[in-house]
Amino acid sequence: MITKKKKLRPVDIEGYIKYICHNCLQEHWVSFKEAKHPKFVIVCRCDETLKVKTVESISIKHIKKHKKNSTAQPGGSAIENSSLVNETRDVLLNYGFSKTEADGLISSACEKQNFTTCEDLIKCVLTKFGESSNVK
Ligand SMILES: [Zn+2]
Repeated sequence: MITKKKKLRPVDIEGYIKYICHNCLQEHWVSFKEAKHPKFVIVCRCDETLKVKTVESISIKHIKKHKKNSTAQPGGSAIENSSLVNETRDVLLNYGFSKTEADGLISSACEKQNFTTCEDLIKCVLTKFGESSNVK
């Protein structure tokens, strides 16, 4: 008889991504599975056939236990606050950023500032993104 129970790992993910029709601005919620399909199209109520940018993958990240360092700053940095980061990343993914882009933007925003709310972090990330795309 097994007495020690292992924690279950998630094996799949389901969720929805929003696309907006460029013609009539109708919102379309598409499941990850649909958006992953290379030939997936949305037929809008305005008769427009919308090709969507295919989502390659959405990964599941487990919360890692960090070893507490006694010399660490109180509160820690926002990048360690994984629920805040995950929430922000999800929002950025909804905006069409790739996971790598989102993570890069989040970590560069967190380098200079600690965030306690997802809203603040998103605002900072989007501001930074606007600045960096103006430079190019
Ligand atoms: Zn439409």
